[in-house]
Amino acid sequence: MISSRGYAAFTPKGELAPFDFERREPEPNDVVIEILYCGICHSDIHQVREEWGPSHFPLVPGHEIIGKVVRTGSAVTRFKPGDVAGVGVFVDSCRECAECRSGNEHFCVKAPVWTYNAEDPRHGGFTYGGYSNNIVVHEDYVLRIPPGLDLAAAAPLLCAGITTYSPLRHWKVGPGQKVGIVGLGGLGHMALKFSRALGASHIVQFTTSPNKRDDALRLGAHEVVISRDERAVMAHAGTFDFILDAVSANHDVNVLLSLLKRDGHLVLVGLPSEPLAVGAFPLISGRKSLSGSMIGGIRETQEMLDFCGAHGIVADIERIPIQKVNEAYERTIRADVKYRFVIDLSSLK
Ligand code: NAP
Ligand code: ZN
Ligand code: ZN
Repeated sequence: MISSRGYAAFTPKGELAPFDFERREPEPNDVVIEILYCGICHSDIHQVREEWGPSHFPLVPGHEIIGKVVRTGSAVTRFKPGDVAGVGVFVDSCRECAECRSGNEHFCVKAPVWTYNAEDPRHGGFTYGGYSNNIVVHEDYVLRIPPGLDLAAAAPLLCAGITTYSPLRHWKVGPGQKVGIVGLGGLGHMALKFSRALGASHIVQFTTSPNKRDDALRLGAHEVVISRDERAVMAHAGTFDFILDAVSANHDVNVLLSLLKRDGHLVLVGLPSEPLAVGAFPLISGRKSLSGSMIGGIRETQEMLDFCGAHGIVADIERIPIQKVNEAYERTIRADVKYRFVIDLSSLK
């Protein structure tokens, strides 16, 4: 076994603290990665705090992982020691169902094996994530990081990046369209960068934080609306082709539906704990669509990373030692992060 050191939550109420554990010896197709950086996604916090249901403790979170390959199994062809590699939100899937075979492993009918807090059906036990010094992953679930990107700032691409890129591509956001982004956090700020890079004609950032206005404009918004200002919000009624909702807390989506044009799309990526209350009337008038989107498959994640390499896109980050993870959680919950915390794992040593 490979010995690993990380930070874990031991109870949903407690703080994260050092935790030693073991990972499997590499199998023929496995890649052993020494983790350099790991982003803090709000999903980590939801799961540590059991906001989506029961979690398995000790819980080592982290699914925005970038590191260096240090060992490979005998049959690995795509990676060699010294390569930079990324791991996202899942580390395996059944590999046999129609979703897996079509590159939609994230929609695997048996459920993907999440990078942490998940039972690992192939190896037994539970998975441990990237707030740790190493990880062992089958090469088919490992991503290549294009050269030239800052590695710490590229880590959030593995979740915040793909989660926003995928719906923007699926709904063909581009020139001629008016696009709204709701919530300027880790996901929201990547959505702004991608919407701009894809050529959307008018991008409006909705935020509850007036102090983020200048940043939103710098990150790609043409216009910023303070979402608690009802008059300013309703001035946009009936005008959007597409709105991406990246809010982590419970909120009213009916007002967002009323901002769409006929046949417009509201797409949820945020995952608040409470069920949505959606009125029928805002949906039927104007034949609007409410959809959701979850991360992306391996092929599309690689496409997103290559797009970022070509366009020089990375996250805006606050780099922290792992000892500050509990403080970073509190600040993320207060929407006080610009715009993603990334843990420098060299601080574990
Ligand atoms: P984050 O960095 O904490 O950003 C969330 C943002 O939501 C905040 O910065 C804030 O933006 C806004 N917000 C917070 N409380 C609010 C409230 N009460 N009302 C309105 N807006 C509020 O979180 P994240 O990492 O980007 O993740 C966002 C959500 O997406 C989380 O629920 C996460 O679990 C989920 N997620 C989903 C997927 C997927 O595959 N679908 C993948 C990753 C994450 P302002 O300050 O601008 O208002
Ligand atoms: Zn995430
Ligand atoms: Zn499958």
